[in-house]
Amino acid sequence: PFHPATRISSIGVSTILQITGMANALKRQGRDVIVLGAGEPDFDTPDHIKEAAIAAIRAGETKYTALDGTPQLKQAIRDKFRTDNGLDFALDEITVSTGAKQVLYNAMMATLNPGDEVIIPTPYWVSYSDIVEIAGGTPVLIPCAEADGFRLTAAALEAAITPKTRWVMLNSPSNPSGAAYSAADYRPLLDVLLRHRHVWLMVDDMYEKIVYGDFAFVTPAALEPTLRDRVLTVNGVSKAYAMTGWRIGYAGGPRALIQAMAVVQSQSTSCPSSVSQAAALAALTGPQGIVAERCADFQTRRDYVVGALNAIPGLSCRMPEGAFYTFASCAGAIGKTAPDGSVIATDADFARYLLTARDVAVVPGSAFGLAPYFRISYATSMAELQRACTRIAEACAALR
Ligand code: PLP
Repeated sequence: PFHPATRISSIGVSTILQITGMANALKRQGRDVIVLGAGEPDFDTPDHIKEAAIAAIRAGETKYTALDGTPQLKQAIRDKFRTDNGLDFALDEITVSTGAKQVLYNAMMATLNPGDEVIIPTPYWVSYSDIVEIAGGTPVLIPCAEADGFRLTAAALEAAITPKTRWVMLNSPSNPSGAAYSAADYRPLLDVLLRHRHVWLMVDDMYEKIVYGDFAFVTPAALEPTLRDRVLTVNGVSKAYAMTGWRIGYAGGPRALIQAMAVVQSQSTSCPSSVSQAAALAALTGPQGIVAERCADFQTRRDYVVGALNAIPGLSCRMPEGAFYTFASCAGAIGKTAPDGSVIATDADFARYLLTARDVAVVPGSAFGLAPYFRISYATSMAELQRACTRIAEACAALR
C-alpha cells in the first residue's frame, strides 16, 4: 500500500480545488454553473508578450538558462523595483522562479528548520501554511478582524513573536480579502519588527498593480530601509500581466538568502522556462498602459459586486483596496434553514448551498482561515457577475 511521506500527510487537496471539482462535475451534468473561484485574471496575455515568446523560440532561446534567471530579465526586474518601488537591488540580490509560488517555496525550504515558526495573518492564501509545513516549519495563524480591515495589528504581531519565530508573511493587496496596507498601516508593524531582530519579513506584492481609487501601493523594504537585510520582496507577472500559465515569479532580498534559495531551485527545477522568461522580459519592459486599463475594468466590477452583496439581507462586504476578490461576511445566513431542510451551520455549508441550489461556486472563508465569510473572484465578465449576484440574492431570500 502507498504511504505518503509525513511531511505531506497533513496537507489535503485545497478546498478551492474541491469546490472547482464539484462545480465542474455539475457542469458536465449540463448545469449552467457560474464559477467565481478562479484566482486568475480572465483577460488574455497581451499580444506583444506572446510575440516576444514566439520570437524567443525562433531565436533558439530553448535551452537551460542561468539558474535563477537570465541576466536580461534580472536587469528588467532590477529596473522595475527601482522605478515602481524605490528599491535598489544588485543583480545577485534578485531571483526568478517558476511562479511566485516557487519563490516562496524556495525561501521556506532554504530557511526553516523543524520547529521554526512562521506568523501568517488570516485570512491568507492557503499555500502559505502548506508551504511552511512542507518545509518543516510551524505556521502560526493570527486571525485579523474585519473591523481592523483584515489587517494584522502591531499588538497581535507583538504577541505572536517567540524566540522561534523565523518569518512573518504579509500580503498586500491580499488574496482573499482584497485588503491592502497603506504606509500608515505598515508603520506600527515595521516598528515591532525593528525591535525583534531575529524575525524576517516576507512580503507578497503579487497584486501590486491591481489597486483602486487613490490607494497608494507601498512595500515595506522601501518604507523602512534599515529592515532591508531581512526582507524578501516577492512579486511576479501572473496577475499584473495575465500570465498565470507562464509561471514566472521573482523576488529581491539579501544576497545570502537569494543564494540559499538558488540551492533549492538548482535541485528542483534547474531554472525557470527560457521562453517564459523572454515573455516576462517583454511584460516588464514593454508598454504598461494595458495594466491600468484592466485595473479600471476590475474596479468597475468590484464596485458592482460590493454594492450588490451589501444589498442582500444577511450579507455584508467591506470595500477592498485591491486584488480581484471580495471577502463578504455570511454571518447573517448562519443558523438558517435551506428549502431542502438542511441547516446552514458554517460558511462551507453556505458555499455548498449556493453551488447545489443556485449553481454559483464561491470559496468559503474557512478555506482561508477565517469564518464565516466567502470569497468571490470578480475576474469574470460583468454579465456573469450580474447573473451570479442575482442568484446569490435569491438563494439568501430562500433561507428561513
Ligand atoms: N501570492 C498570492 C497572494 C497569490 O494569490 C498567488 C496566486 O494565486 C501567488 C502568490 C502565486 O502566483 P504565481 O502564479 O506567480 O505562482
